[in-house]
Amino acid sequence: MCDERSVLVQGKNFICTWCEHQENLERGIIRMVEEYKLLFPNRLITVSSVSDWCGLNINRSKLYRILRKHFEMVGSGKNAFYR
Ligand SMILES: [Zn+2]
Repeated sequence: MCDERSVLVQGKNFICTWCEHQENLERGIIRMVEEYKLLFPNRLITVSSVSDWCGLNINRSKLYRILRKHFEMVGSGKNAFYR
């Protein structure tokens, strides 16, 4: 993908506005979370931080489902984070 800031969410995919390359939304989010973990090992992964990091208008409950499925959830409610 050219630039993560140039992608749009369309259904279950990310679509690059530059080259129209498509990536599965779920896989793309996991990849971005892994990048975030590498770049900011001391920061907590939360629905908000991932949403800010991705810079996309992803439905929060969708993001939450993806995080819960692929990462371990620690805590609950607004203070929950993932690892
Ligand atoms: Zn592209």
